[in-house]
Amino acid sequence: MSIYLDNAATTPLCPEAKEAMIAALELYGNPSSTHAEGRKAKALVERVRKEIAAALNCLPAEVIFTSGGTEADNWALKSSVEFLGVKKLYHSELEHHAVTHMVEALEGKLECVAIPFNEHGDHDLDWLEAALSADAASSRKALVSLMHANNEIGNLVDLARLSSMTRAHGALLHSDTVQTMAHLKLDFGATPLEFAACSAHKFHGPKGIGFAYIKQGTGVQPFIRGGAQERGHRAGTENVVGIAGLGAAFSAAVAHLDADAAHMTRVKTYAIDALRKAFPTICFNGRSADLDKSLFTVLNFYVPELHEGGMLNFQLDLQGFCVSGGSACSSGSVGGSHVLGGIKSPGGTRISFSRMTTLGEIDALVHALQNLPKLD
Ligand code: PLP
Repeated sequence: MSIYLDNAATTPLCPEAKEAMIAALELYGNPSSTHAEGRKAKALVERVRKEIAAALNCLPAEVIFTSGGTEADNWALKSSVEFLGVKKLYHSELEHHAVTHMVEALEGKLECVAIPFNEHGDHDLDWLEAALSADAASSRKALVSLMHANNEIGNLVDLARLSSMTRAHGALLHSDTVQTMAHLKLDFGATPLEFAACSAHKFHGPKGIGFAYIKQGTGVQPFIRGGAQERGHRAGTENVVGIAGLGAAFSAAVAHLDADAAHMTRVKTYAIDALRKAFPTICFNGRSADLDKSLFTVLNFYVPELHEGGMLNFQLDLQGFCVSGGSACSSGSVGGSHVLGGIKSPGGTRISFSRMTTLGEIDALVHALQNLPKLD
């Protein structure tokens, strides 16, 4: 039996999602068909869309189902450049590759400017505000893309401030909200932005389903072209079973938002204390040990005597612990984490929590770290 501490990579399916998906398997109609079986499937898709929109304080038409977070992020950036006349993109080198690799692909089509950050991974929003203000004077349309919570170090960005500075200077705002959606209360009415992204498997829903939030009137064009599904915004027959699972997982997460946040904060606080006690030389990467500046799901640590040699995460795997050295999506790539490299950290282990994580699992991890067998 493994101990799963990699919930920022993905989470186990919750019973609510599983039950809703099994029930949805019976809905074989195509949601675009106008007959009775088609209408049943369509009703489910629209019910989930309405529930999500109600929780986010936005319009149902602003929620467009996608294959997940990557598609939603890619769509926002590419469409802004190709169809919305964006000429300047403010981005961060600490973003998930769903953003950084799309920025690389767009370079040459517009001016891409990296927002400065310090060794803790805090972005300089005063610098950004001054830059946006200068752009507003030159009437060049800008897009800011900054993730709400970093998936490797948990750093939170002040979304309300980003929203108000982009409104004030006529810029567009995209935030990769994959790590915070259904974990933090998001209100797109109170904190307006043009684009956000959701991935169901980050909150106990199924993989391969999510949605793009796109503010009405933004004027984007479809990323995937074909049929008229999703009101003409995203072609392809809807993933009805996935949408059922997404909806159930989202509703369950939103219903227990405060209790789950309190639980994970307790688990994280416990882990910080236990690790500090066991390893006085420990450093925490980014703001991950600062409860006010990071998301409660993520903790990223470096212990010189354990990490030297670069085998710790492998050793933990052998002991039955699922942890991560960086983003799961880059684990097959050459080189270490671009986020840890970006903040000049020598390395790290990310442990990440869910409402299912227990204090006993943290005790087991600390015990295993203290008793690692020597490598030959
Ligand atoms: N953005 C962030 C911050 C993520 O953590 C992830 C998943 O690891 C993604 C985007 C990609 O989401 P998906 O796996 O649904 O494509």
